[in-house]
Amino acid sequence: MVITLDKHKKPLGFTTEKRARKLMEAKRAVICRYFPTVIILMDRDARDYDDLPTYRIKIDPGSVHTGIAIVCNETNRVMYSIRIEHRAEEITKLLQARNSSRRNRRNRETPYRRSKWKNGNRNKRPSKEGCLPPSIKSIGDNIVNTVKKLRRFINITECSFEAVRFDSRLMDDPDIEGKQYQQGTLSGYELREYLLEHFRHTCQYCGGASGDNVLEWEHMIPKSRGGTDSVRNASLSCSSCNREKGAMTPGEWLGHLRNTGFSASKDKQLAETRIRHLEGILLNSTVYGSSRYSAWTNSLRKSIEKDLFDIFGEVECSSGGRTKYNREKILKLPKDHHIDALAVGSVPEEGYTDCTNGYVLHMTAMGRGTRLRGLINDCGMIHVKWTDRRKRFNGLQTGDIVRVRIPNGKYTGTYTGRVMIRKSGSHDIRTLDGELVTGTKRSVYSVLQHADGYGYNYYIGKIGV
Ligand SMILES: [Zn+2]
Repeated sequence: MVITLDKHKKPLGFTTEKRARKLMEAKRAVICRYFPTVIILMDRDARDYDDLPTYRIKIDPGSVHTGIAIVCNETNRVMYSIRIEHRAEEITKLLQARNSSRRNRRNRETPYRRSKWKNGNRNKRPSKEGCLPPSIKSIGDNIVNTVKKLRRFINITECSFEAVRFDSRLMDDPDIEGKQYQQGTLSGYELREYLLEHFRHTCQYCGGASGDNVLEWEHMIPKSRGGTDSVRNASLSCSSCNREKGAMTPGEWLGHLRNTGFSASKDKQLAETRIRHLEGILLNSTVYGSSRYSAWTNSLRKSIEKDLFDIFGEVECSSGGRTKYNREKILKLPKDHHIDALAVGSVPEEGYTDCTNGYVLHMTAMGRGTRLRGLINDCGMIHVKWTDRRKRFNGLQTGDIVRVRIPNGKYTGTYTGRVMIRKSGSHDIRTLDGELVTGTKRSVYSVLQHADGYGYNYYIGKIGV
């Protein structure tokens, strides 16, 4: 769908691509933005309508990708799908490179600036309460800023957000013996998410040593031996550990592993790891795995939730268990980020109608260039002392979406894409198909949209196929 604005640039709603094209041909509409596609209807005024549709934005946050879906409140139609690709990993890499080059210079006693913090560890910023590391913070900023930007074009009044992995209200009293979490029910889905988080995405019997990365809900005392579906009897294991444990209790399996001889050394190593883990579970119920990742995601989700509350005043907060249940049991859709976003929060029993024609706007966080004025080589030496402070040359900036007509030469034709500028005035273009056009001259460019820190593209990701 194409987003429409009135002549005062106030949101009207959506129209189909076909109708938008006709309106533009009839000179009744002009284009406002290419990504997301927004047109201005020159003969319409939003104040003339008192029943303009309102929309709900649904957000499924992730550490690499975030899915966003916009649905109509009145008609349950999916109007727009967005996928944001974050750059948390890239930011981590950049900061690590800076850190190591600074440490290198300090160790060689060639510092180029005073250390900022006079505590014991000079490389570490004193941590503040509620302060997120830059890589994680960038994810929250990407999501919140996209929501703010979309609200300028679309009449979004409500918001659904996947704020937690599992709903603790459904998990509030895990010690009640016999409380059942049947597979396939909503509480069963919540339990799975709880297990993944509590056991840190790690097989509790081998800690990942088996090399099997399919994780399963494991009944410690098997159901065939009278074990229940309750939380107390639940654990997380990879499918090969689960298969080998079979109908044994952990104690029996430990005895079995100790008494069995192993011929191959690989099997022996795995058995020893399993024995060590089983002993830990039986003696002091140790949880294996790293908790670093889940700690950050939880505080990130909290900070996004707070920002969304500030924007909307009211946010429907949901859980990852419910998202998965909605997607698999109610909507019956395959897994993709924008589809997960659709399943966040409450969904209508009869499902949604897809009006996106399969188009998903793919936004890639690209950054806005470097702040560094000196360029550093691989050894941490500054080899260019003062690069140009300007970002824009000949009216172009890296990241602008441009259309270029090349009359002759190797790349004859018309291209649309993201420009990477050079000071010399001859630039490179990455087209929407991913093709790289190098060394084009300024004279043939027209700027479609100015750089805003994202790379844009559409891809086909039909809902319900
Ligand atoms: Zn395992």
